Amino acid sequence: MKLSFKIGSAWGIPIELHLTFILLILAVLGYAVYFNDIYSFTLIVFLFVFVLFHELAHSVVARRYGIKVRKIVLYPIGGVSEIEEIPENPSIEWRMAISGPLTSVILGAALIAIYYLVPIPLFHPSSLVLSSGNLFSDLGYLNLLLGAFNLIPAFPMDGGRVFRALLAERMKFSDATKYAAYIGRIFGIIMVVVGLLFNFVLILIGVFIYIGASEEAEQTIVSTTLASVRVKDVMQSEIGAVRPDQTISEALEIMFKSRYHDALVEKEGIFQGIVKWNEIIKIAKDQRSSLRVEQMPIKNISTYPDEAVFEAYKNMIKEKIDLLPVVDKQNPTKVVGVLTSETVAGAYEKARNK
Ligand code: ZN
Repeated sequence: MKLSFKIGSAWGIPIELHLTFILLILAVLGYAVYFNDIYSFTLIVFLFVFVLFHELAHSVVARRYGIKVRKIVLYPIGGVSEIEEIPENPSIEWRMAISGPLTSVILGAALIAIYYLVPIPLFHPSSLVLSSGNLFSDLGYLNLLLGAFNLIPAFPMDGGRVFRALLAERMKFSDATKYAAYIGRIFGIIMVVVGLLFNFVLILIGVFIYIGASEEAEQTIVSTTLASVRVKDVMQSEIGAVRPDQTISEALEIMFKSRYHDALVEKEGIFQGIVKWNEIIKIAKDQRSSLRVEQMPIKNISTYPDEAVFEAYKNMIKEKIDLLPVVDKQNPTKVVGVLTSETVAGAYEKARNK
């Protein structure tokens, strides 16, 4: 089920609202109408416009360093910029992380300056948010709060990313992540405890930080550990190949025996490519004994023994295949092994338990 909806884009970056966020806005709108408190509604809508500016700052800096930003999603407790990959270069990471809070602080200061310089009539103070009744002053302080709060060194919040980048300049990236995530989880627990006493929203943020720190740390540690594993370390060396002149039924038998989900095609020992499972399964049962492998679309795709498993696996996901032939670099028509999702999963388990 799709839970977030695109509302537009900026600099080519799609901006989406999460369903829970839309529900929050509707709830606040209902409240505002019922209690005749339009100011609360206005304030919250504007606050999220500024949260969006905060996220756009992260995204713009990321793009400057050539990192692709998939989208920005707004949740009730803030925004998230989904980037393609976390930079392992500390100087890029801290710049990206700090740009958001810095933007919030600068915008907050500017709004407060406007409040002092320009006389603006007061509204009735909001009953939902602690407020002065002046839109500029309220938004100014909320932006300062947004900036300051995000600077708490609780990974994966912005401050925690800056903290990890500082650590990563002194140690291995995976170790830096481990320590930053450890501190992040402690902050998460503190926030839940403080939240139980004072503020419900803080409990949500605390839980979000605790889970986020654990998940991202595990992903990072596994991917950095997997990065050092080569295809030749985990590939299967028994190869179950089918010939182009064999029938689909014969191919299925060989695939079943070698436990492949796609068919590896070889002609007189020369690598031809693979036939995808989802192509084979389309063939009606009564045609499988007459149709030959060579009549199927054969995809020429392979990897080398020295390639990182992590990269090879990314390629398998992209191509939606379950079997990646490994060919000799000097002689790319000779298959020396195969990589399957199972072998990659095995390597992943090993890396995780290291
Ligand atoms: Zn941020």
